[in-house]
Amino acid sequence: MRVRRNEKCDVLVIGAGCAGFCAAVAAARSGEDVILAERECMPGGVLTVGGNNHIHEFNNPFLSENKMIIGGIAWELVLRLHSEGWAHIPDMNAECKGKSVRFGVKVNSLAAATVMDEMLAESGVRVMYGTALADIEMQNERAEAAVFSAPEGLLRVSARVIIDATGDGVAAYLAGAEYEIGDENATLQPATMRVYPSNARAELSESSRSLFLYSSLQEGDNINHVIGYDPTTAEGLTDSEKRARALLCDMQKRLREDNPDFSFLATAPRCGIRESRRITCDHTLTLAEYESGSSEGAVCYSFWYVDIHNEGKGVHKILDSGITPKIPYASLAVKGIENMLVAGRCIGADREASSALRVKASCMAIGEAAGTAAAMADNGNVHTVDVSQLRKRLADNGAIVPDIVPTRSFSDMMAK
Ligand SMILES: Cc1cc2nc3c(=O)[nH]c(=O)nc-3n(C[C@H](O)[C@H](O)[C@H](O)COP(=O)(O)OP(=O)(O)OC[C@H]3O[C@@H](n4cnc5c(N)ncnc54)[C@H](O)[C@@H]3O)c2cc1C
Repeated sequence: MRVRRNEKCDVLVIGAGCAGFCAAVAAARSGEDVILAERECMPGGVLTVGGNNHIHEFNNPFLSENKMIIGGIAWELVLRLHSEGWAHIPDMNAECKGKSVRFGVKVNSLAAATVMDEMLAESGVRVMYGTALADIEMQNERAEAAVFSAPEGLLRVSARVIIDATGDGVAAYLAGAEYEIGDENATLQPATMRVYPSNARAELSESSRSLFLYSSLQEGDNINHVIGYDPTTAEGLTDSEKRARALLCDMQKRLREDNPDFSFLATAPRCGIRESRRITCDHTLTLAEYESGSSEGAVCYSFWYVDIHNEGKGVHKILDSGITPKIPYASLAVKGIENMLVAGRCIGADREASSALRVKASCMAIGEAAGTAAAMADNGNVHTVDVSQLRKRLADNGAIVPDIVPTRSFSDMMAK
């Protein structure tokens, strides 16, 4: 194999989804030379490429006051989009209605990707799109370098610290980390292929509407479940994506029986993935810890409930009011690998906790913590980072950090 190009950096972030974006910006703002490598040609992951442009959950609506629980780079992105008219921010002081705890921020995907590009450039991150991770070179317990399939051929990047923000834990897996996947039979939650209906307001009958899992035809979002989606092998991925297209094509055909003008104009280039590997880290965050709001060494909050989609009804357990879950740093440090952190939905957690913390605002706060920690690991060892210093540095940089910046008010955060 011929490596066509060699690069070196302080911190290598793999995957530019919402977690990787925040990790890269945080590390670069801390003075590190950062490379961000992404297989697609756009930042944002599920938020943009995947076409799910809803960011949950910056607040804990059950709190009586100071409900805002996530700030930092994630909120900075949202405010920047809002100032340009590209984000709808709901009133996060509003009361919960019934069981509804949804206060998501809806963003324009194109603008979100563009502002992400701007923020990455402003912080000095070296971004490489069209660059897919192919392997990790190990030396004993150290991940020496990552090898990518890049436009110019094989690209080798060596780094002091590597952050796996691939969602699927690809880098940690290639480095030989332990992991868990899915339920006890390794069955994963279904994936969803976003569709963009050309004539979204078409009149459709009740029976046609029942083809959709959710009644959001106008948005084309979350309206199908691709059961048995397998992102871990070439054959599995190929079969899953073919089935997703066939499902939507069939749906389109049936909807045409109702309205001959109906069609889907386009789909996202690939399915949005809810679940894959959960990488074994120094700590596995359990549902009991998540739901009770406990955890030592917390670097950020999270707010969402157990949310496991499956073939049947799915599992949804609402959190007790008054409790805000926390994410510990130890769930980011990959067990057995000296210099690797995970960020986003693949962190060390049990299945139920993982299904809750996977929402975007939480993933972004986790990403910021990973990027900041990587910068602090000046000997490359992510397991010896001083967590109290990390928490302090995150708070100094504008993040909301349990016990240091307990929570903030919505009006205060909108005024920024
Ligand atoms: C259909 C669907 C609906 C959802 N709805 C909501 C919602 O309404 N609100 C909400 O807050 N959350 C929602 N979620 C959850 C949330 O969007 C994701 O869990 C979250 O975006 C995960 O962020 P991430 O950065 O960890 O991963 P991702 O967004 O998956 O990003 C991972 C990035 O890594 C890149 N990558 C992967 N492999 C490689 C490789 N080998 N080499 C280089 N790059 C690689 C990917 O291309 C991608 O850009 C939804 C998820 C899905 C799938």
